[in-house]
Amino acid sequence: MNEKILEIENLTVSFDGFKALNQLNFSLDTGELRVIIGPNGAGKTTFLDIITGKVQPTEGRVLFKGRNTKRIPEHSIARMGVGRKFQTPRVYLNLTVRENLDLVCNSNKNVFATLFGRSSTSESKNVASLLETVGLYAKAELKAALLSHGEKQRLEIGMLVAQSPELLLVDEPVAGLTDEETENVGNLLLALAERHSIIVIEHDMEFVRQIARRVTVLHQGSVLCEGNMDEIQNDPRVIEVYLGHQEEL
Ligand code: ADP
Ligand code: MG
Repeated sequence: MNEKILEIENLTVSFDGFKALNQLNFSLDTGELRVIIGPNGAGKTTFLDIITGKVQPTEGRVLFKGRNTKRIPEHSIARMGVGRKFQTPRVYLNLTVRENLDLVCNSNKNVFATLFGRSSTSESKNVASLLETVGLYAKAELKAALLSHGEKQRLEIGMLVAQSPELLLVDEPVAGLTDEETENVGNLLLALAERHSIIVIEHDMEFVRQIARRVTVLHQGSVLCEGNMDEIQNDPRVIEVYLGHQEEL
């Protein structure tokens, strides 16, 4: 097994000459939870886009489990084990929490069997443990439309996990959440980190403090520095970059 689940080497992404990512180097150990921070425009979303294959590198390469993902289509990269959680929840509001999870758990099978058939015992066990993991067991029969924003985020994370990705990419999961919901999402990610490799992009420094082990700071398309939370907060380069953008660290 490859010790590094993800390696990014000298990666540059140019949009009409503007380098959104510039000679970026990065690697993630299998099983690691990494938080990525950086001011607006630093290249964080583009960074996720090149991992999922949505954007192609102009220079450099991305290795997932040792394999160069160049020109591999997005859906194939997803099938190789890369799952992405977008910022806004994408759940089926008219379906119950359980039905949302049922759908993804059965997504490889016949759609009619999913909608009209009975699910097998192993699948229902699967859904039950997911409900438990995301803390929505008591709300399983509720329509997703009735969930709070934070609960919807957790449901969508559960739907992502149902597809058994090896690498989970999570873009700003707590934007707009209450403190309590933020903490719940943090605890969920920490629980998932026991079995997955995870990259979380986040602005909310309170949240970063809750979940962070190793943090990578992006700035102008490159890695400015990496370290634990204490090292990052006391790094003069980080302080300058954030003060320059009037953002609070
Ligand atoms: P972040 O997520 O850190 O805020 P982004 O990755 O979204 O940063 O963007 C990095 C930079 O690249 C920004 O200056 C942005 O305007 C630019 N950019 C992103 N996508 C495109 C695109 N498709 N075309 C042109 N410029 C882009
Ligand atoms: Mg972004």
